[in-house]
Amino acid sequence: QRRQLHRLHKVPAVTRDGTSISLQANLELPAEIDGVLAAGAAGVGLLRSEFLYMNRSDLPGEDEQYEIMAQLVRRLEGRPLTIRTLDAGGDKMPESLGFGDGPNPALGLRAIRLSLKHPEILETQLAAILRVGALGPVRILLPMVSAVEELQAVRGVMEQVVRRLKRRHVPIASPLPPIGTMIEVPGAALAADALAWQSDFFAIGTNDLTQYTLAIDRADEAVAYLYNPLHPAVLRLVQFSAEAALRARIPICVCGEIAGDPRYTALLLGLGIRELSMAATNIPRVKQRVRCLDLVAAAGRARVIMDQSDSTRIARLVDDFNSGLP
Ligand code: PEP
Ligand code: MG
Repeated sequence: QRRQLHRLHKVPAVTRDGTSISLQANLELPAEIDGVLAAGAAGVGLLRSEFLYMNRSDLPGEDEQYEIMAQLVRRLEGRPLTIRTLDAGGDKMPESLGFGDGPNPALGLRAIRLSLKHPEILETQLAAILRVGALGPVRILLPMVSAVEELQAVRGVMEQVVRRLKRRHVPIASPLPPIGTMIEVPGAALAADALAWQSDFFAIGTNDLTQYTLAIDRADEAVAYLYNPLHPAVLRLVQFSAEAALRARIPICVCGEIAGDPRYTALLLGLGIRELSMAATNIPRVKQRVRCLDLVAAAGRARVIMDQSDSTRIARLVDDFNSGLP
């Protein structure tokens, strides 16, 4: 079976009825890029840039970030690199930032909020990304967005950074990189139409979307039994976001854990998702699933599932549809 999965490296991720599905990789550390290439990923759908900030007492500068990202872009040889700006806070607050936790870290000054409150962090990252964009295709992804004002603020900061780099005659991406919104806060999913008009793409973070929709700390063992991405509330938010992206004609990717679990592939494709980003090791198994799916059947099954109000029944329908598929 391992040899069979290995052989999948060469075959395209295409459904039985001929639609290409983009299977991309999530990257936490630059060293994982070998695995990404070996798995035949279509690109990096999520580079979690937190690693740049962890386990150190100072902040990474523009040149340091540029060098690391530049190496990744070179290795990807034309496949896109999606760089998420610093998603600090909550469970992961780097010591170098020197901020306290606040009364409720999960709901506090974190991710894009923190980057906008301390724009020098955002400016440094955007400058590095814009420069890397001169070497190959990059996309910018913003974590934990909850309002269109945040997107407007980021675009404002980006304009300043572009002006500064141009004044210095530093080569930058042209055209400028797409700016995407993580949909991982329930309010963002409910306002997906508004966000879609101001975003170049969406990436649904189902890990946090599940956590915040169900009010279940994703790291708390005591409530882990309630953590369920198949809860109808979570699925409706995924569906709503996918529909908004389709209407605005922007790409939408799912990059939470469920993207790498073949059990969910039919449902996600049935909801209109055509891009999945996952741990590289999961790509062959998900590709195998993609290749035996029919999109019309998947969409029909997704409609039946979306009519249900009970997660146990939804889980059973998902299992039924998957049984018999390799
Ligand atoms: C998510 O929340 O689903 C996600 C992809 O981001 P992270 O797991 O890094 O929070
Ligand atoms: Mg997240």
